[in-house]
Amino acid sequence: MGDFYECFDEDARVLAEVLGIALTSRPMGREGRIPLAGVPHHQLERHLERLIAAGHRVAIAEQLSPPGRGLVERAVVRVVSPGTVDAGAAVEGGAHNWLVAAAPAPAARSARSGEQPLWGVARCDVTTGELELELVPASELAGEWARLRPAELLLPDELLPPAEHGADTAAGGALPAALAPAGCARTPRPARDFAPRRAAERLAERFGVAELDGYGLEGLDAAVGAAGALLAYLEEGWPQALAALRPPHAVRGAQHVYLDPQTRGNLDLFAGGRRGDASLVAALDRTRTAMGGRLLRERLGRPLRRAADAEARLDEVEAFCGATLAGAGAREALRGLPDTERLLGRVRAGSAGARDLLQLARGLARLPALRARAEEAGTAPAAIARALGGCEEIAAAIADTLAEDAPPAPGEGATVRGGVDPEVDRLRALATDARSALVALEAAERERSGVASLKVGYHRVLGYYLEVPRAHAERVPPDFEPRQALTGSQRFRTAALAELEGEILAAKDRLLAAEQAALARLVAQVAAAGERIARAGEAVARLDVASALAEVAVELGHVRPELAETGAIVIEGGRHPVVERELSAGAFVPNDCALGDGADIVVLTGPNMGGKSTYLRQTALIVLLAQCGCYVPARRARVAMVDRVFSRVGAQDEIAAGRSTFMVEMLETAAILHNATARSLVILDEVGRGTSTNDGLAIARAVVEHLHHLPGGTPRTLFATHYQELTQLAGLLPRLENRSVAVREEGGEVVLLHRIVPGGADRAYGVHVAQLAGLPAPVVARARELLAELEAEASARAGAPAAAGAPAAGGGQLPLAGAASQALLDELAALDPDGLAPLAALQRLYELRARARRLSGVEG
Ligand code: ATP
Repeated sequence: MGDFYECFDEDARVLAEVLGIALTSRPMGREGRIPLAGVPHHQLERHLERLIAAGHRVAIAEQLSPPGRGLVERAVVRVVSPGTVDAGAAVEGGAHNWLVAAAPAPAARSARSGEQPLWGVARCDVTTGELELELVPASELAGEWARLRPAELLLPDELLPPAEHGADTAAGGALPAALAPAGCARTPRPARDFAPRRAAERLAERFGVAELDGYGLEGLDAAVGAAGALLAYLEEGWPQALAALRPPHAVRGAQHVYLDPQTRGNLDLFAGGRRGDASLVAALDRTRTAMGGRLLRERLGRPLRRAADAEARLDEVEAFCGATLAGAGAREALRGLPDTERLLGRVRAGSAGARDLLQLARGLARLPALRARAEEAGTAPAAIARALGGCEEIAAAIADTLAEDAPPAPGEGATVRGGVDPEVDRLRALATDARSALVALEAAERERSGVASLKVGYHRVLGYYLEVPRAHAERVPPDFEPRQALTGSQRFRTAALAELEGEILAAKDRLLAAEQAALARLVAQVAAAGERIARAGEAVARLDVASALAEVAVELGHVRPELAETGAIVIEGGRHPVVERELSAGAFVPNDCALGDGADIVVLTGPNMGGKSTYLRQTALIVLLAQCGCYVPARRARVAMVDRVFSRVGAQDEIAAGRSTFMVEMLETAAILHNATARSLVILDEVGRGTSTNDGLAIARAVVEHLHHLPGGTPRTLFATHYQELTQLAGLLPRLENRSVAVREEGGEVVLLHRIVPGGADRAYGVHVAQLAGLPAPVVARARELLAELEAEASARAGAPAAAGAPAAGGGQLPLAGAASQALLDELAALDPDGLAPLAALQRLYELRARARRLSGVEG
């Protein structure tokens, strides 16, 4: 309303509270007064940001007809929600602002194939124009949300509790994780918007094609449905944004390694440490552009499954590792490049102003120099660099059209350069003429009135006026109409002045309109070159990532991994990229790792604080980095590609979700046992620790046995544990090996060497670590005493003859094997063959044999 956006009633109260602005009121019919709050139009962006951050969505209504007599026509032109913001902190820097739609695929299809249900997922970032379609297994949705961190999720309303229909609530409550990503607004949408047929029509219409076939979306019906829901949502709330969307891109999950949320967290891929800066991405991110930053995060969140794909990326990094000079040149050329992807998004959405275009032009104008540096670096960068070409013309067109110091919005100064648009030039001359006409009028009136100090002035309400000192006010001609009396002077208007004023204002308006038209033509011209600019943006991102990774590799001594589709993981001198950074130079002890090819499971024992968890994580990180196409922190690494990385480490509970620490541990372990394959990498840290020693040991052993005997083959598994009993499994399970962390004992002092050596450990040195941690001396002394007693008892028991007759074959020293064989013997003794039907007897026999075989380590 005029220069303000105003809100009334309940909205006004919300506005005043969230923005901390004054709540006033104004008269309203017979009711009396109505609450009112408002913000100046030029501060809209800042206030929008706060409203959205506070969990609101905002409908913006504009005046559609010029204010005059009668009612002004107004309409809602845009609804801003967390997923559709295009300015402010949410969309600054190297992260996407994803608006996501998701719906389950029809059950019939997935049920027939016997696989788990799939979800159709479509995501778009209105600021960059990306639109991606994907099918995601239901169990992987939570991981997808952890990776994407969507700002807003659209779901078919029928999936949500009725209370939520029509109203949107922040995520939370007892909904399954698939429907409630953390920190994401959830928006129920009509289920019919997700129907694939209608959605396909919508997409085809939007992108001006007869069929969607060309986009390679076959089999992605449910995702197409979700994309339709996205488009319908934008059509309703922000139609202009649709123009920013690029054609749909199919993402096929089979190309990537799925990382579940706990593995992402356990490995501190994106967040870690108390200050949040001890993450993998923090250790590796040397990118210099927002586009490169986004691409690096995208790659680290989605390692590749096929060696050939990762090799192509490694070639790019290698080129920059070799070409140090050209690489440095390219890094320099990247510095300060603007976010052309996002600027292009604004152009496509029609919200780009002169300043955005100028920034885009400055960025594009720098691409040839970047291209030259990249081409010097080698063939792989040169291939990317080609996409940087072809934007010179559009950059020049912008620079030639717009004034270098164009104002943020037209009308506040010259936007269009002189000599570009004849109409703009003509109107600008008119405006200047009018100003000289004012000077002439002033001179003429001085002459006529004989008052030499007469001045022309301008007042917001009065308009132009003639000012005469009070002493001379009597001398003015009769056609001077008095308008305002001040203490020292008197202001007048004349007919000639009013006419001139009309001309000046009209010229200003027409100049503004002409400048806006010229700007709109330029925006259309830039939008038409959108594909080229987008490709150049992608190329910048790839060059940035490749050269940034090369910089890290050279500086930190990372090497190119050798990749293979099958075989073992062999790492020489591997390091943990984040822990290494935290320690002083050279303090980190590199370690080797060989996993697979018959040594598939490694049971890792050793002292507390020895470095077991570090070793597990560094192995997983090296494998993941290799599959992302990054160099790895090792002296040498050969990585056989994995299909998934599973991890169960650390203790978290989800008390709010009704799960204890141990329950969480078991849930995660169960998910691993159900899904791991011979090609997976499994990291288990102290599984079984969360319960009593016997239960824990029993579970830990059963888990290891299960993984070892998996029918499809044994996953490559690292199992760190304090149960020394598990080391005895090496004698029973052929594909299992023991390793331990070396310690040196010198005169009662224990030195942790952080070196992984073959064989099992015999002690945990827990009391030693407790002492280091500052447990009171009497407690440490008492613990030593008790430990000695316990150890003496244990060795006495081990020396005594086995209580249960024959020791279990091959597992005599294992207390568990002993207990289990005892149970088996007891059951056999209690068996009543006469009471069993022949078939049941046979079944029982098979069952007992299977257990006996398992106990003796025989397979089958
Ligand atoms: P616990 O059994 O008590 O859980 P752990 O064996 O899993 O201990 P980590 O947590 O991996 O031990 O490591 C403890 C600390 O030891 C790390 O924080 C790190 O500072 C240091 N450390 C681990 N590995 C190495 C290494 N290879 N070189 C140098 N220091 C290391």
